[in-house]
Amino acid sequence: MEDRIKVRSKDIEVYYRQFQALYGVNMDIREHMVTALIGPSGCGKSTFLRTLNRLNELIEGTTIKGQVYIDAQPIYERDVDVVALRKKVGMVFQKPSVFPMSIYDNVAYGPKIHGIKSGSKLDEIVEKSLQAANLWNEVGDRLYSSAARLSGGQQQRLVIARVLAVEPQVILMDEPASALDPISTARLEELITELKKAYTIVIVTHNLQQAARVSDYTGFFLNGHLIEFNRTDEMFVNPRDKRTEDYITGRFG
Ligand code: ADP
Repeated sequence: MEDRIKVRSKDIEVYYRQFQALYGVNMDIREHMVTALIGPSGCGKSTFLRTLNRLNELIEGTTIKGQVYIDAQPIYERDVDVVALRKKVGMVFQKPSVFPMSIYDNVAYGPKIHGIKSGSKLDEIVEKSLQAANLWNEVGDRLYSSAARLSGGQQQRLVIARVLAVEPQVILMDEPASALDPISTARLEELITELKKAYTIVIVTHNLQQAARVSDYTGFFLNGHLIEFNRTDEMFVNPRDKRTEDYITGRFG
């Protein structure tokens, strides 16, 4: 059976003023799979990730061409509700960006903005999201203490809980482990593997071992071009393009 396509990018080009950062990127991202984006620094991975929930347009001077479809619906159309889009397609950044408030308020923040007022409903969402982010056992007894006091790895899982609290379908992660120690990184990778049962995940990583461990599909970018896109096991064993082979065997990057 063919896997269902959750996100499809069609001929995506991105310019930062005169500078072209992406050239005609086509990618089919499968539902309930982890897709890793790899390639040397500056090749356009984060730029591509940001096109999937229209975060690029917050950067002044950016032009985007092409189209992204989520569940076959185009997102670059005038009548698209961008707030609803970013709720459906959540983002986790490199550095854990917890808000300067309690653990509880960090998780309840999004649902409150989206109109949930009932205290018991919020309690339920907070617990469920922290459970799903594998953090409940560590923080369930101190929900009202400051989120800033958590370790880096806990903060990153809190950010994930915050994203889960607004019930996304797709989760974008931009080098989510780059500021974490090896144990926290291993926990995050386990979490990603669990989350894909319920979500579709796209992760930018400069760590090839990480891509090989967590992803089902991998896209290799170079100088703004998607050079190769394939099943991860296939790409790492049998790259089709010489440039992919050079990169994954450590000849450059
Ligand atoms: P990667 O994630 O692979 O490191 P990026 O998507 O961050 O690459 O960057 C791709 C290219 O676009 C780089 O040359 C970078 O300098 C440029 N770029 C990224 N963000 C901006 C921006 N806000 N303004 C101008 N150029 C940018």
